[in-house]
Amino acid sequence: MLFVVLVVASQIIAAQEYDPYIQNKVNEIAYDSVLQRLQDFEDLGMKQAGTAALEETANWIIQQHQQFGYTDIELDSFYVGSNLVYNIIVTKTGTLYPDTYLIIDGHYDTYNGPGVNDNGSGTAIVLEVARMMADVETAYSIKFIHFTVEELGLVGSTHYVENTVIPQNMDIRLVFNIDEVGGVAGMVNNTITCERDEWSPTSNNEASAAFTDTLASLTEIYSSLNTHISYAYGSDYVPFMENGYVVTGYYEYNESPYPHSIHDSLSNMDPEYVFELTKASLASCMYFAEYLNSTTSISGNEDEYLPMDISPNPFVNNLEFNNRWDNPVEITMYNMSGKVILNSRIPAKSKIRVQPECPPGIYLIKGNTDNSNAEFHQKLIKQ
Ligand SMILES: [Zn+2]
Repeated sequence: MLFVVLVVASQIIAAQEYDPYIQNKVNEIAYDSVLQRLQDFEDLGMKQAGTAALEETANWIIQQHQQFGYTDIELDSFYVGSNLVYNIIVTKTGTLYPDTYLIIDGHYDTYNGPGVNDNGSGTAIVLEVARMMADVETAYSIKFIHFTVEELGLVGSTHYVENTVIPQNMDIRLVFNIDEVGGVAGMVNNTITCERDEWSPTSNNEASAAFTDTLASLTEIYSSLNTHISYAYGSDYVPFMENGYVVTGYYEYNESPYPHSIHDSLSNMDPEYVFELTKASLASCMYFAEYLNSTTSISGNEDEYLPMDISPNPFVNNLEFNNRWDNPVEITMYNMSGKVILNSRIPAKSKIRVQPECPPGIYLIKGNTDNSNAEFHQKLIKQ
């Protein structure tokens, strides 16, 4: 447990760093895209168990994930009274830890109204993050989950935890829940509450606090919002945290008076606020799922002794070269009889990932810069 806490603590420090690759991705989010989703959600009407609107909203959610290119879409169905309802679970498989999941979720049912804030806002964000993540490779797997029947007592999330998460002993890195983040029309909505677990069991509370601090840091870096830390309660993370899983969440700081009424409409909320939270949610999703990409520019430390990180060593399939130099580096990989296995040029301050096609054994890496005689060698083991 102490080890886990130390690992999480080191991630907080890393979170303070600004990452231009995440910023570039965040810049691709379109305000109109977020606004249109909120409008579509409103147009679908009141979404309670037994309504056609709930079914139509589920179909609308599924169709969008299909359009984004996702194929692993599961329906976790069950009855509420005589009504068949379902949670929607979209899985994106990670490269390095395919069996460990980041869950990003928001419920899509509403109560006594169209629920554009509660929880069209969270639904729109989960959808937009899924759209943006479709072409981003990540180390951890991600589950985008749209829970149903939250409003009648966390029914959908409780069903999922009891019937899927616990029986499968699912390995969950973090549950990131987004519920009611629409803001209030006419108010200055410049702060978001980041929620952490302060309840029993306490074994997961320290990790929840650490992830929540990181969420707050990322939110302040990649959106215009300020953050406020508070405790988690009354949303779909509850059945997870009660069963020892690590959670965090977003909830609006200016609490709207309109949820659970016909006035929970787009005109009574602040779509700019939802837009800012979409940016922060995407950045957090990329960070928590540990995105991997072929041409990441990084902010390196000029004083580091080694110019190039090569990891992991030993390796199995994937190998990552992280060039921290200000110059491009030519990399050549040889087997022990001097045959060239791989030759690649790594731009200054960049990472690349490769899959060398070679049998298990010992290899030698040689690196040179273009404009100097600097050269280094490193031994590498393939398992
Ligand atoms: Zn809600």
